[in-house]
Amino acid sequence: MTSLTFYGGVSEVGGNKIMVEDRGTKILLDFGIAFNSGDDYWINWLQPRGISPVKDRFEFGMLPKIKGLYRKDLLKGTDLKYVKPEIDAVFCTHAHFDHVGYLGFIDENIPVYLGECTKLIMETVEEQSTMTDYGEHLYRTFRTGKKIKIGSMEVEPVHVDHSIPAAYGYIVHTSEGSVVYTGDLRMHGVRADMTEEFIRKAKDASPVAMVSEGTRIGSERKTNHTEKEVKTKSCEVASKTRKLVIATFYPRDIDRLRTFYQVAKDSGRKFVVSLKAAHLLSRLKEDKRLPVPDVTADPNILVYLRPKKTYRKWEQEFLDDAVDCDYVHKNQSKLLLNLGLMQFAELIDIRPDKGSHFIHSMSEPFSDEDIEDEVMHNWLDHFGLNFHQLHASGHCSGREIIKNIQTINPKKVFPVHTGNPEMFKKLVKDVKVECPSIGRGYNI
Ligand SMILES: [Zn+2]
Repeated sequence: MTSLTFYGGVSEVGGNKIMVEDRGTKILLDFGIAFNSGDDYWINWLQPRGISPVKDRFEFGMLPKIKGLYRKDLLKGTDLKYVKPEIDAVFCTHAHFDHVGYLGFIDENIPVYLGECTKLIMETVEEQSTMTDYGEHLYRTFRTGKKIKIGSMEVEPVHVDHSIPAAYGYIVHTSEGSVVYTGDLRMHGVRADMTEEFIRKAKDASPVAMVSEGTRIGSERKTNHTEKEVKTKSCEVASKTRKLVIATFYPRDIDRLRTFYQVAKDSGRKFVVSLKAAHLLSRLKEDKRLPVPDVTADPNILVYLRPKKTYRKWEQEFLDDAVDCDYVHKNQSKLLLNLGLMQFAELIDIRPDKGSHFIHSMSEPFSDEDIEDEVMHNWLDHFGLNFHQLHASGHCSGREIIKNIQTINPKKVFPVHTGNPEMFKKLVKDVKVECPSIGRGYNI
């Protein structure tokens, strides 16, 4: 009667695609791109063709062949026949591409439910990138605690803390009992209270099944801090030097952006952000519930202008007051500059003094042979920058994941978004662990 089918996020981090079926009603939880999806076939400029994105992904099993899900025009030339939508709704947990990246392929008549701010972030990404198109869906936005009726099911989104605003977990009430889906979450961010609320509500639902993320199960990084520690330790770096401080972090991690904004303030510096960050901040101001600094009015924030031949419409509102490489060079002791690896060429113009500082506030490389990491260190060495690794993960630690499962106490747990699902069997006590196989349905 009621089943769960896993089309992605199976034995891998990201790419979540989970179908819940109850008395003929079907909903999809997330529809993301797997991080290593198709890596054996596609490399560098060899990528799925824009004209046949679904067909090229079907070929290598990167997308599931689900009837009544995809856009008619994209099924042309494939062996999956177009039929009218058979999926009643798609629910997204948050705006990371491994959860929403393939939305653009879905039939636009299928409603897509997501947090209000998730929608805002996705719109901003679409504006900034010529490569991203999530499609013209019937979008339905919600806030935490709302209950959404879809056929025989009722879906309850509850906010959680993650490395992007507006992240949600779901409690799906079906005719066979409740199914809890964590999405991505953590306990050591600035809003741990939201994750705790989700866990409380999930427990109260006495779920028959739980779909739990397991990003950090069996793959703990060498160093991991809380968001608060990232702030304190970065502040130590920035306060002790009169040289330039540069920080890099994930572009849509607003908590981290706020952390470095505060680090800059507390160390008597101004925070210099990219045009993209400035645009995102100004869009997020539309969400009154999200406290973000006012990039156009706040004297503590400056916008860095990379020289370009032309500027796109969304960039233009910041051009007049922006600062350039010479300004940064002349005011090194007074600035904290946010600069991503892909913008490192700016260092050639900025010419930071030797002994300046670089804070890497992102995950450590997953292997010793990470080319990007090697290139980054070549640049740091070339410019004589001191390296600091200061990051707080977007995910619960392995121990917290296990503890949460035991607290929620479902009849059965399905590990997803993890490279080590089998490890759950050893670690979780008193709850049955079912490691899902790709495309297989599980009755609950
Ligand atoms: Zn995520």
